[in-house]
Amino acid sequence: MHKDVEKVLFSEKELSVMVDKIAADVTADYKDKNLLLVCVLKGSVCFMADLMRKIDLDYKIEFLRAKSYLAGCSESCGEVEVKSEIANLEEYDVLIVEDIFDSGRTLEKVTAKMLSDGAKSVKCCSLLDKPERRAPSVKLQLDYVGKQIPNAFVVGYGLDYDENYRGLPYVGILKREVYEK
Ligand code: 5GP
Ligand code: MG
Repeated sequence: MHKDVEKVLFSEKELSVMVDKIAADVTADYKDKNLLLVCVLKGSVCFMADLMRKIDLDYKIEFLRAKSYLAGCSESCGEVEVKSEIANLEEYDVLIVEDIFDSGRTLEKVTAKMLSDGAKSVKCCSLLDKPERRAPSVKLQLDYVGKQIPNAFVVGYGLDYDENYRGLPYVGILKREVYEK
C-alpha cells in the first residue's frame, strides 16, 4: 500500500466486480441504441478503459474536460467548467462515464451540456457515489453506480490529489495529513 494511503476501500478485484456489473447492465439497456460513451477527464480514465472492454456492444467513445476542483483543493470549489467539442451528438444516446458523484454539480453541468448540444438521450454512470455530499440544489440521479462511499477523500484508479496517485490499482482513503499540511 502507498505510504500516503490510510486504508484501501476497494481492491483491484472489487473494482473489477463493480465494473462487471455496470457493464452488464449497460450492455442490456443499450442493445437497440446508438451508444456514445463520454468519459469525464481525467479521473475517469481507468474506469472508462475497464468499462469499455466489458461492454458487449458496438459503440463510440469521446472525452471531455470538467473541472470543479482547483489544484491542491480537496473540496469542490463550486464552479464547474465543461469543455466539450463532440460532433454529431444528435445521432447518439450518450452515457456519461464519471469517477465520483460528489456535490453532483459536475454531472449536472455535463448532462445539461450534452442535452443542449443535441444528444438523443443522456444517462449517467459513476463508479463511486458520496450521497452525504450532494448539494441541495442538485436533482440529478445516477442511472448506474458502482458503490456508495462515506464522506472521505479517496485516490487511486484514476483519482488524484494534486495530480498524484492516479496510477494506484486500488481506491484508497488519503491520509488527512497529506492535504492538511
Ligand atoms: P462534484 O461536481 O460531484 O462535486 O465533483 C465531482 C468531481 O470531484 C469528481 O469527478 C472528482 O473528480 C472530484 N472528486 C470528488 N470527490 C473526490 C474524492 O474523494 N477524491 C478525488 N480524487 N476526487 C474527488
Ligand atoms: Mg471527475
